[in-house]
Amino acid sequence: MKLLLVEDEEKMARLLQRGLTEAGHQVDVCGRGEDALEQGLQIAYDAVLLDWSLPDLDGLAVLRRWREQGLRTPVLMLTARGTVGEKVVGLRAGADDFLVKPFAFEELLARLEALHRRGDAQGPAQAVGPLVLDARRRVLRHGDKEQPLTGREFSLFSELASHAGEVLPRSTLLSHVWGDGFDGPPNIVDVYVGYLRGKLKKLEVAEVSIQSVRGVGFRLMVEGRG
Ligand code: CA
Repeated sequence: MKLLLVEDEEKMARLLQRGLTEAGHQVDVCGRGEDALEQGLQIAYDAVLLDWSLPDLDGLAVLRRWREQGLRTPVLMLTARGTVGEKVVGLRAGADDFLVKPFAFEELLARLEALHRRGDAQGPAQAVGPLVLDARRRVLRHGDKEQPLTGREFSLFSELASHAGEVLPRSTLLSHVWGDGFDGPPNIVDVYVGYLRGKLKKLEVAEVSIQSVRGVGFRLMVEGRG
């Protein structure tokens, strides 16, 4: 599995990274919430180990932002307290499992593998015409061709595809994909539509296109569908 470990205590992070690597996983380590937030959206991980208490943005805030952005990567939260109230808050924020510190490494490994199996079984894949949008691996597939998507690309494509045939205003796309707090340039939507078009082209899929609707926004069209 390709894993993201978000843990600010260096000794703990090193120990876990070594153990997980020895167990055959590939592990990226992040010690800050803000960095983890961005990295989780940019790189497709199979699962995330997320420490609740971090020096800047805490694990819960990171998790909430990810889920708001449509990121569905399984998340195992690591917490020092583990009260019932805390677990409820975490689960509502979109955590898939919890582990209370201190824990046995074997338990961490077993829970991670269980999360991964569950993800496989659910196989959250959406058909968009001849394309398959695979949420777990965050790729767009056409036959035997695949294009990896970044978190934002995934959310944008998913939003457009869920409303295929409808014109979605830039403002709607901005608020759903980038969040209401986004204060960058609105043409970021156009930039990302450009990235997606490039990927559709590489997939050689003629039946799916993203049309610009002048002065309004964008519409994903699937040939043979309204
Ligand atoms: Ca910590």
